[in-house]
Amino acid sequence: MSDISYSTLGLSDRDLASALDAIADAGFSGVEILGQAPHLEEPPEGQALVEFQRRLESRGFQSWTVHAPAKRNVPGAPDESWRQQIIPLLRQYVRFSGAVGSRGLVVHPVPNPIFVSDPHDSSLPERMQQAVRRSLDELVPEASAAGTRILLENLPYDCEYPLLSMRELRPLVEEYPPEQVALVIDTGHAWTIGNEPVDEIRAAGDRLRGTHLQDVDRDAPNDNHWIPTHGGLDWDAIRKALVEIGYTDNWTFETAQGRHGESPDQLVKQTRQVATTWGR
Ligand SMILES: [Zn+2]
Repeated sequence: MSDISYSTLGLSDRDLASALDAIADAGFSGVEILGQAPHLEEPPEGQALVEFQRRLESRGFQSWTVHAPAKRNVPGAPDESWRQQIIPLLRQYVRFSGAVGSRGLVVHPVPNPIFVSDPHDSSLPERMQQAVRRSLDELVPEASAAGTRILLENLPYDCEYPLLSMRELRPLVEEYPPEQVALVIDTGHAWTIGNEPVDEIRAAGDRLRGTHLQDVDRDAPNDNHWIPTHGGLDWDAIRKALVEIGYTDNWTFETAQGRHGESPDQLVKQTRQVATTWGR
């Protein structure tokens, strides 16, 4: 049975140790570790890594994933100098993901337009397509050696960039071994740019190896990261689609904001209750 997991993103008001404690206390069997401040800004190595993993296990977690730093740290950086800058950091997180026994490293394929100096340049889509492949060509051997998998996530950006949906990402990941490159569906990102989460889950199919379950408004979705069932997504249909494709990896909740002003502690507990009503 899939582990029920919670992203530390929802507890960005505290340090990583306190966030992990709150997630374990709420009864989650899995966790996603956010690879940026205030959580894992620098992956531990050597003895610190061994202790880090031991503490995850001592909290009772059965499995974990790692979210690579987002912002400018994307394999599809459209300029070669930018891409060269971020590859060493992504390599470091790939190695960490493997060393800590994570089920996958979540990576945003292309940048948010706010980080692109000429965000509407017509050559950007082609440059991003090429950059993502160049980066994966470099990172996949590293992932193979580390024994981990890169999970590419669909994104909520309102622009003409490529690789924002499962539909577009699926042919890309087919160019690489399934053990090293797969997909993670973010339900709220999907609907924010008008893609039905159910269609996206089906498009990802057997390459889907991760989830970011979060709710948004039906009418004016805006990547809200509400507790699933607090917004307008059809959760019965989403759960059914995940079962239909034979999905067995973590059901990771990426709740980060309260629709009704809930505190981070209330969010983690109420999210766990939703999973319980789903029979998980
Ligand atoms: Zn996400």
